Amino acid sequence: MAEPRETIVVGAGVIGAACALQLQRDGHQVRLIDRDPPGAGTSSGNAGSISTGSVVPVALPGMLRQVPGWLLDPQGPLSVRWAYLPKALPWLLQWIRASKTERAESYAAALARLTLNAVEDWTSILEAEQRERLIHQKGQLLVSRTQEAGKTELFAQALRDANGVASETVDEDALRQLEPGLSRDFKRGLFIPDSGHTTNPQALTEALVALLQAAGGQFTRAEVLEVDQSGGQAQAVVTAGGRFPAAKVVVATGAFSLDLARPLGDRVPLDTERGYHAMALKPELALNRPTSDMDRKFFATSMEEGLRVAGTVEIAGTKAPPDYSRARRLLRQAKEMLPDLDTSEHRFWMGYRPSLPDSLPVIDRARNVQNVWYAFGHGHLGLTMAPATAQQIVRMLRAPGGRLDDNDFRIDRF
Ligand SMILES: Cc1cc2nc3c(=O)[nH]c(=O)nc-3n(C[C@H](O)[C@H](O)[C@H](O)COP(=O)(O)OP(=O)(O)OC[C@H]3O[C@@H](n4cnc5c(N)ncnc54)[C@H](O)[C@@H]3O)c2cc1C
Repeated sequence: MAEPRETIVVGAGVIGAACALQLQRDGHQVRLIDRDPPGAGTSSGNAGSISTGSVVPVALPGMLRQVPGWLLDPQGPLSVRWAYLPKALPWLLQWIRASKTERAESYAAALARLTLNAVEDWTSILEAEQRERLIHQKGQLLVSRTQEAGKTELFAQALRDANGVASETVDEDALRQLEPGLSRDFKRGLFIPDSGHTTNPQALTEALVALLQAAGGQFTRAEVLEVDQSGGQAQAVVTAGGRFPAAKVVVATGAFSLDLARPLGDRVPLDTERGYHAMALKPELALNRPTSDMDRKFFATSMEEGLRVAGTVEIAGTKAPPDYSRARRLLRQAKEMLPDLDTSEHRFWMGYRPSLPDSLPVIDRARNVQNVWYAFGHGHLGLTMAPATAQQIVRMLRAPGGRLDDNDFRIDRF
């Protein structure tokens, strides 16, 4: 007797887990496959910010002029491993193109579609128990030592305003009221009231997988080797532990997605912006909300396990070993941001942001295979965009031909 055919989602990071759950709820029989436990990869180590209305793409006009300074500054937020530069060059060139004003404006409008209701999207995908433990809505605070906003910051604010993102400027006194632990060096801030956060990103993905299993879906731990297709139809997902016949396949393997997409004939400039975190395990102080040092470009968030400071971009691909001096520097910078922070007990981590140069993900059907879809490339905002991405995948799998007419996240946009 032929085995039943399932909808298989590959990758149990926050994106794949959200897609798997929403597809199971939409009537599919889902199997989620990952080589690691759910949410253990990049989705475990992020800053936890559910950044409602995070519409500002990474590449912005005028930024190119700042890049050499960042690269030369050992305290800077960006580094490139020179041995990786030839590989990264096409991505970096597209990133420069993406920083043009009109492009940044159009990417912001697209980001708004996946981020404007992020907290609501998260509360509606979860059930009460996990929602109460894991999702908090206390806004987000961006702080600076400078007296006035520079050009790039003003442009970012114009993008927020144009896309209907609520925000309030905050003076020095109001900063202290919002976050009493902040250093006196900070002179002003921006408060984004509708933003939220999670206090445990990995538990959040685990919660999605537990809901999937409770709804009748399955989780299988295995390395996926390929999606076997013939005649433009995926037949099965082949793993190190066996072959799973598939009616439909969703590839959501983050920074590793091209390993499966390339053999199916799809190429996009996906690379990784590696990021680090340092976790102060006995911080002796707490922040009320994710707080970002705008000058040094990192976030600090109080979590169940301690206070996490996360950020930096390292262009070095998926194979080079971590450079934990970047995490050590984050810890020092956190201490400067929050002078009473106890950093004596800490832990370091590195993860792989799956990034496309225009800061938008790919959410689309494979070009040449009728029953394979992609959900990858969420860069700096995967936690924020996961529920909206899952909704888009559900709509696509229902749509005639498996595609949506009005799709900003097409695979053939490059
Ligand atoms: C320092 C840092 C801070 C961040 N802060 C935030 C934040 O505050 N807010 C926010 O919204 N986003 C943030 N992000 C971004 C966010 O974490 C990512 O966009 C998101 O985790 C990507 O999720 P994913 O499911 O696509 O990828 P992943 O979490 O990497 O999941 C992919 C999964 O695929 C699996 N996989 C890969 N290949 C295979 C294979 N062949 N077979 C089987 N399994 C496979 C992996 O094991 C992994 O579990 C941050 C990222 C970093 C690095």
